Amino acid sequence: MRIVILGGGTAGWMAAALMATRWADRRPSIQVLESPDIGIIGVGEGSTPQLKAFFDTLGIAESAWMPRCNATYKVGIEFRDWSTRAGFEHYFHPFPSETDERTAPALFFNSVIRRRGADVEGHPDPFFLATELARRKLAPLPARNFPFRSYYGYHFDSQLIGRFLRQHCCARGVTYVEGTVARVEQAESGDILALHTEDGRRIEGDFFVDSTGFRSLLLQGALGVPFRSFGDNLYNDSAVVAPTPADTDGIAPQTTATALSAGWAWRIPLTNRVGNGYVYSSRYLSKIAAENELRQHLGLPEDGPPLRHLSMKVGRVEQHWARNCLAVGLSQGFIEPLEATALHLVQETVESFIEAYTAGGFSNQHQDACNAAINARFEGIRDYIVCHYKVNSRSDTPYWRDNSANTVLSDSLRQILQVWHDGQDLLPELQRQGIERYYAAASWHCLLGGYGQYPPPQRLIPPSAKAARYDIARIRDFVQRCALNFPAHEQALRELAAP
Ligand SMILES: Cc1cc2nc3c(=O)[nH]c(=O)nc-3n(C[C@H](O)[C@H](O)[C@H](O)COP(=O)(O)OP(=O)(O)OC[C@H]3O[C@@H](n4cnc5c(N)ncnc54)[C@H](O)[C@@H]3O)c2cc1C
Repeated sequence: MRIVILGGGTAGWMAAALMATRWADRRPSIQVLESPDIGIIGVGEGSTPQLKAFFDTLGIAESAWMPRCNATYKVGIEFRDWSTRAGFEHYFHPFPSETDERTAPALFFNSVIRRRGADVEGHPDPFFLATELARRKLAPLPARNFPFRSYYGYHFDSQLIGRFLRQHCCARGVTYVEGTVARVEQAESGDILALHTEDGRRIEGDFFVDSTGFRSLLLQGALGVPFRSFGDNLYNDSAVVAPTPADTDGIAPQTTATALSAGWAWRIPLTNRVGNGYVYSSRYLSKIAAENELRQHLGLPEDGPPLRHLSMKVGRVEQHWARNCLAVGLSQGFIEPLEATALHLVQETVESFIEAYTAGGFSNQHQDACNAAINARFEGIRDYIVCHYKVNSRSDTPYWRDNSANTVLSDSLRQILQVWHDGQDLLPELQRQGIERYYAAASWHCLLGGYGQYPPPQRLIPPSAKAARYDIARIRDFVQRCALNFPAHEQALRELAAP
């Protein structure tokens, strides 16, 4: 099969690398075609733990790629100022660790009885090892004799990771071609036959990957696949970006997402700089006001060099795989970067496609199942992110008030919130809906507990044997002692970079 990948951003190169690896025995011809004039979006510097699985699949060690991409470890995301409830002004959404199996049930239990009026610890932070690693600036690499696994993601420079993957792919037989596509040639059936570049070349293929970013030249453009906007409940459509110097007091292995007046600011520490940006809604804030607010948030001078502005198209296509074309990355959709899930979706999309294609070729049955699975994943992640906005308790600006008053919620999210506010156990509901594969029970409890979605403690619930078993002092002690088995983040990064 001749595969033509249009677009050499992170999505295009991830698709090329996965296809070249998974289909190594079939030896498909893979070409990546990229416009040198258009360039890549050049943001997107945080990942979920799925990116570790990506590099493991390619057989690339952390020491080979991380130093070359100025990468750091990430154990989760700290949310600051999304809630105004006393004691809940910030919380940490941790990536999982096997130790959570011993401590998370205590949070689940406490969250139920706290919602029924008991005065027990309902803030998620003391229950999770990753939260403690972030607080102490430790790397998620346990000592050899520590018997529990920790899952983690990364922060990286998006330009450098693209370059790294390009070199990796080209060394494995992928061809890199420069050119700007001006026209798409289609058969009468609608299938794509070839791409025509501005300088008159015709590039034929059997299968095409659209990784042209928000342009979506092939899938939404040539094939006319409709786009479904998420704008009804995800209001952010713009971003402004500003790097700042690297941290000098130790690199935290965490992203920070701080709520501002009409959105939130990310903070992503790399080894050579910190990536910052303000994701906001242009309905509530002008470009210039957003830029000023970001400068103020970062302590940058008002008259400094101009900052980079971006627009975001938030939603998803109706079909990710249509005819002989698969869209990956921004061309297939984007759910705003709050939980840094875009590259995770790229990986899942390509892996689902490879599995479906290997099982059934171009059969409709496999194609439909693949599209349905990707759509369900988009919706599952979307709901979790919408929930952040829905349960915020800020009331200082129309943006936050409108978000918490928003009633455009999926049935799935509506039911989750209903169960939570009725004081029932959330676990059976998450299992009934089968949505733990998008966000685990711990993530939902961290979000709802972390925002302090509890009534004030009123009734006295008599101590039970179970409550005694979940003694918070013992849990804190266990988590803190577990953290002693991990090295300092900076030291681990230095050792990775050592020749
Ligand atoms: C503000 C913001 C923050 C983000 N943060 C995160 C994050 O923390 N984590 C995360 O996972 N993701 C994040 N993302 C998403 C992430 O940036 C993208 O998913 C990722 O960079 C992949 O982009 P892409 O490859 O789809 O598109 P692009 O990088 O835009 O690449 C498009 C490619 O298509 C080529 N192209 C376009 N038109 C033509 C043409 N006519 N002819 C030839 N070539 C063409 C371009 O040259 C380019 O190579 C963020 C996005 C935004 C907007």
